[in-house]
Amino acid sequence: MIVHLSRPASRILTPTGGFLRAFTHSLNPYVGCAFGRGGGCPFCYVRKLAVAGALAAPWGQWVIAKSNLPELLEKELFALQRGGSLAGMRVFMSSATDPYQGLERRLGLSRAALELFARFGSGRLVVQTRSPLIERDVDLLRALGRRVIVSLTVETDDERVRRALTPTSPPVASRLQAAGRLRGAGIFVQLAIAPMLPNDAERFAELVLPVCDRVVVDTYFDGDGSAGARSRALGIEALYRELGYADWFRRGAEAQLLAALGRRLGPSRVLFSCEGFNAPWPREQP
Ligand code: SF4
Repeated sequence: MIVHLSRPASRILTPTGGFLRAFTHSLNPYVGCAFGRGGGCPFCYVRKLAVAGALAAPWGQWVIAKSNLPELLEKELFALQRGGSLAGMRVFMSSATDPYQGLERRLGLSRAALELFARFGSGRLVVQTRSPLIERDVDLLRALGRRVIVSLTVETDDERVRRALTPTSPPVASRLQAAGRLRGAGIFVQLAIAPMLPNDAERFAELVLPVCDRVVVDTYFDGDGSAGARSRALGIEALYRELGYADWFRRGAEAQLLAALGRRLGPSRVLFSCEGFNAPWPREQP
């Protein structure tokens, strides 16, 4: 049972930097994430951030919706427009929640954000999710055109691995199908293999090829900001040992997948870690 609350937020667009250094703001329509329930996403670093203490219950057991998102985001976008910085705005939605978790189906806060970005007509947006629910908003994504990148998280090609490590996440096939349909609708689709989970490199690369414009691979050692220490502290190394995946928790475990992806997609469509997430916007590429 997940606790759902609604609360007004004091701001919607949060200035960002660090790992997301190419972005001006992050946007989290929700606080908390239902995909983290019951041990889902054991690698989720957000569960150790201050935001995870918004309620006393464990991470994944509650979600707080930012009830005033439509009105407040409109005001913030208007202020940016008036200040002349809307065109340079680059938003990452979302860095500390999944904008298309189950509650979004009923509340439509992420949809409301897309509507506003489309209406304001300027600025760029990456929408990152593991949920095929994003397909519901294909009309708005199309309206945003090259101003939006959909970044779908697909950490493995192997359903057994998915069930063992991220049991609350949508099946691999449903995410790849959603990616393919969005790409077919003309939307720029990035697959985020992040963090990379145990996989069959050749099979994964074959599956990825037709459904995305580019791929970003990230690992526990390159992407957690602490050379793997943060992931170890979350118990990932021990969990991998327990599940028989010990050999996958090591620096360089991604080499085979990167090589297989490079052969199929070509090196320019295979990005890596922080640099990859902050890569030039497709239109900015030479
Ligand atoms: S979907 Fe993302 S934010 Fe949500 S629990 Fe999983 S890793 Fe964390």
